[in-house]
Amino acid sequence: MKVTLKNFNILLFILLPALITGGLLIFSGNLSDGLRLGFLSLPGAIFLYLAAIQNKKSWYILSIIWWLIFWFDSLLRSSTWILFSSDNEAYFIIEAIANTSYTETWEFFQLHAISIIAVLVGLVSLTIVYHYIAFKYLKTENFKQLWHSHFYRAWIIFLVLLTLTCYLMKPSRNVHPIVFWSNYQEKIENFRDRITKHKDVHHQWDRSAKQNLIVSDPTRQKQTHVLVLSESITSLDLGLCGYTRDTTPELSKRINQIKVFCNAFSPSPSTINALRVLLTESPASEHDRYSPESILAYAKAAGYKIYWLSNQDDIYLSSLFGSYADKAVYKNTRSGRSSSSLDENLIPAYVQALADPEPKKLIILHMIGTHPNYKERYPAAFNNFSADSNDAVEMLLKKNDIDPWIRSMRNHYDNAILYQDSLLAQILDKLIAEKNQDFRSFTVVSDHGNEVGHEMDYAGHSPNTKAGYQVPVIMWYDHMPSTGVDRTQTINTAELDNNLMQIMGLKDKYAPPQSYWLDQNYHFSPEINWPYWEKKH
Ligand SMILES: [Zn+2]
Repeated sequence: MKVTLKNFNILLFILLPALITGGLLIFSGNLSDGLRLGFLSLPGAIFLYLAAIQNKKSWYILSIIWWLIFWFDSLLRSSTWILFSSDNEAYFIIEAIANTSYTETWEFFQLHAISIIAVLVGLVSLTIVYHYIAFKYLKTENFKQLWHSHFYRAWIIFLVLLTLTCYLMKPSRNVHPIVFWSNYQEKIENFRDRITKHKDVHHQWDRSAKQNLIVSDPTRQKQTHVLVLSESITSLDLGLCGYTRDTTPELSKRINQIKVFCNAFSPSPSTINALRVLLTESPASEHDRYSPESILAYAKAAGYKIYWLSNQDDIYLSSLFGSYADKAVYKNTRSGRSSSSLDENLIPAYVQALADPEPKKLIILHMIGTHPNYKERYPAAFNNFSADSNDAVEMLLKKNDIDPWIRSMRNHYDNAILYQDSLLAQILDKLIAEKNQDFRSFTVVSDHGNEVGHEMDYAGHSPNTKAGYQVPVIMWYDHMPSTGVDRTQTINTAELDNNLMQIMGLKDKYAPPQSYWLDQNYHFSPEINWPYWEKKH
């Protein structure tokens, strides 16, 4: 028995690196790939065996390199699970990587240099310590002992067979770092290629709009329509929608003029997919396809001058929408998380667009809204909610065992919403001040929501919780039939294009009959992937 226990320790020691490789990924959230990766890494044990029987340092060096590669790979793949509870190949991750320039990558490494160095030093130390112990204690006799025990011999053969199977079967082999990362590179390149396709998409949009456009009221000559595409705002955190913090004091003052829908749902939890559905004819379930029709093309065909005023730096959206507009202004030179440009930077360009004497204008503002990092999304004057607030929100988060880190994120998030509230009110006021117009409209929609400790101890884009999708829709237009807050009517923001076209008096002559958000009898028809947060992405 004594020998058996010793043999067990030896086997465990030999298998340890593979257990770490697979275990890390399993622990982070990917059981099947973790198991596969563990077995794919197991041939590394051969180097250890060769090093022990031949007592050569070169085998140890190969073993060190082998395990460094596998551990680093496993750590990298686990990181998206740890940070976003998401697969590395999730659309929003690919999207983020494809939209990241070399400069940004370099900046990212500089920003996180200390953590990255700490992780790498830890990894290298672990490898060296392991191999030092192996070099000192693992001898040829140990391997012989194992092989002479029937029990352990059976185990070794079993493990070898499983490893071989993993290498022979394609789905498992695809998990191997070399195959995985070269496929990954290909995916990112495909993503970038699609961007060049956008020119063709634009031609298709133009053709459809020219063929199908009907203008319902040609007497309205001077029209200005403002569409604010905000970012990552969930209506769950709007004071107007019943949130216990008053995050919307400015919009509340204007509630008799505006209409607010609290129960609106975005078709996708990430920017590109959501905006593609919002601004084109696609249904929510086809967020990854191009639609042959877009509201932008209908507006252009009807003689509108289109402004794309953006505080987001995104290669994909700029090429799909920005480059289609007559005038595009970009105020942000850094993408997503790393950006720090405040949305107020759009106001001067907006004022200029309003002053443009062009009779028909569609002004689209693409804000950074409340995109992570939340604390970069508002100026100091809006630092209103903090850990010291000690209010109902803080209590609830504490009661739900939400981590102090996420609680502080919620405070930043709510401050960012407070800031958005003031900006939206300014944008609306400036439009209402434009008097000599036949018709004006103002529509605000957030591309998607964010989870900030609502259901999970997590903050950010969220494919699997309701807060990832629930957004506000805010409307104002001349002679609007109803105003006030609607907290109950579920609406689908995928229908933004149809609703805005209807307000603008534009029609697609082949469009099937449909109801609009402000209709008495608006009918919410769930799409096939509804409720979105219950379908795995
Ligand atoms: Zn977004």
